[in-house]
Amino acid sequence: MLSLSRTPQYDDVVRDGGAGRSRSWYGDVRLLNARLPPESVYANKLNALVLDWAGTTVDFGSLAPARTLQQVFGRVNILLTDAEVRRDMGLPKKDHIREILSIPRVRDAWHELRGHRPTLSDVDDVYRQFIPLQLSCLAEHSSLIPGVLASVQRFRERGLKIGSTTGYPRGMLDLLLENSARAGFQPDCSLSPEDVGGGRPEPFMLYENAVRMRVYPLASIAKIGDTPADIHEGLNAGVWSIGVAGTGNGIGLSYDDFQALSSSERESRLEDARHELERAGAHYVVDTLSELDPVLDEIETRLRSRQPSQG
Ligand SMILES: [Mg+2]
Repeated sequence: MLSLSRTPQYDDVVRDGGAGRSRSWYGDVRLLNARLPPESVYANKLNALVLDWAGTTVDFGSLAPARTLQQVFGRVNILLTDAEVRRDMGLPKKDHIREILSIPRVRDAWHELRGHRPTLSDVDDVYRQFIPLQLSCLAEHSSLIPGVLASVQRFRERGLKIGSTTGYPRGMLDLLLENSARAGFQPDCSLSPEDVGGGRPEPFMLYENAVRMRVYPLASIAKIGDTPADIHEGLNAGVWSIGVAGTGNGIGLSYDDFQALSSSERESRLEDARHELERAGAHYVVDTLSELDPVLDEIETRLRSRQPSQG
């Protein structure tokens, strides 16, 4: 039978302890989740950032996976809404397909069209169709998000290593790596779910990034991504978990379409995207990677203060 399990919610994925969900302010940077990495006391600075790919560093609006999934389901006459296709974005792609098939409307539509509820072998079948379609359109959606190159340069100048994780399988990640390297973006470590035998919301890609980049403790690492699944991955690993609201899945628009919004519409959509990441348990939320520096300053101040759970 098809698993109906949903992506774990905030309370399922955050380890016990911490100071609850109180908020605190530090200058312009707002701490949203006071349950901090428990080893904070042993770290006095950040050593590495682990960045997500689509919607965080490349593919403004995370368009490639959304459009491909809509196309694949379109082949069987199921037209997925943006909300349906984006709800579980960030998971490994086969898990994402399984979750889409578990949405009651989609499950019922499948039943009506195919005469049975979706099974795990249907998940495999949709995934098999997804791979070549996604590979064929990934290159055109692999451009760096504006500001990423300069931001990564600044992060490196402050002594940070740069790792990465993704929901894409290895072959797709390799394609992104090749294109990004040509544009000047080369992380120190890049891992896909199949490299470690499991993807988000599990923490193992982050652990393996730490091993390969030789960085510790976990409280000296921050994970940055655009989906609730990214946030859960970071929280499950015990690292700092930071959301990026403006360039990814929560808005779901190309750079040009985003710029074309009226300022009030843009702000209202940003608010929704920020809240989704906050609800997922993010320690901090920024709109773009370019705005991360004050957050990194604040985390390092917090680490040096050795009073990690006090705002
Ligand atoms: Mg992403």
